[in-house]
Amino acid sequence: MEEILIKCDGLVKIYKTDDLEVMALQGLDLEISKGEFMAVVGKSGSGKSTLLKILGGLERPSAGKITYGKTNLNELSEDELCAFRNEHIGFVWQKSSDNLLTYMTAEENVSIELTFFGVPAKERKERARKLLDLVGLGDRYDSYPSMLSGGEQQRVSIATALAKSPDVLLMDEPTGAVDKKTSEELQELFRRLNEEQGVTIIIVTHDEQLAKNVNRMVMISDGKISTERLLDGEYSVLDKAGRVRLSKELRMAAGISSTRVKIDLKDGRLVIESE
Ligand code: ADP
Ligand code: MG
Repeated sequence: MEEILIKCDGLVKIYKTDDLEVMALQGLDLEISKGEFMAVVGKSGSGKSTLLKILGGLERPSAGKITYGKTNLNELSEDELCAFRNEHIGFVWQKSSDNLLTYMTAEENVSIELTFFGVPAKERKERARKLLDLVGLGDRYDSYPSMLSGGEQQRVSIATALAKSPDVLLMDEPTGAVDKKTSEELQELFRRLNEEQGVTIIIVTHDEQLAKNVNRMVMISDGKISTERLLDGEYSVLDKAGRVRLSKELRMAAGISSTRVKIDLKDGRLVIESE
């Protein structure tokens, strides 16, 4: 059995504004194993970023539970949650300006991540350079973000996110602001980091090409995980109460239009038929 790293149990997230409540997550269950390389995909507004922020301890769920091993994030105080993030999680956002400080060089951006952890300056410099080498920027230590291409800026962002050796790298649309070729190059880097460094990678995206290039893709719709694609094919998700969602495409293809279906066991297989 693979070791489960993160467990989401019935996550609900409700955003309240003055006159409106939005239910971004509606009882989402998800288990993520150590070392996974996965993507969460879904339409705009389907709750991907909300899920990523809850996974990263930046937002708290309105209901439901998220645990890392034996640690229940709900039970941590704000300070404890902040310490937890620092120790275990690296973030990469779509816009480089959310990841990097414009007035610092690539090397300084990475090394500043370690400033508050009592790491001596010489060691910080060595670690920053090593990480920039790792992401393929061994010749750009002294470049400021404005001197780098979009793809290079994302590479620095990744080096920055890896500075504290997190267990998990969480990325929100990391290829959203670059062209197709650059996106493919970044995807190669993600895979290499996962395989060679063993870091668990969770990407949320609506980029289908990126979603195809991971080992596991989960689809989020109506605030829940609906289908999953693993390397050996596509699966529907069976929830804890025993419910399965039939997609609109599947229902149409099978000519199912009523709100009731008949489920029979025939020769050891389940057959679903229209009323
Ligand atoms: P995605 O990343 O898939 O586009 P989000 O998680 O950003 O989706 O948003 C899911 C839903 O929650 C959307 O309807 C969005 O408008 C709403 N939402 C997200 N963040 C907030 C917020 N801070 N306040 C109010 N509504 C929000
Ligand atoms: Mg989003």
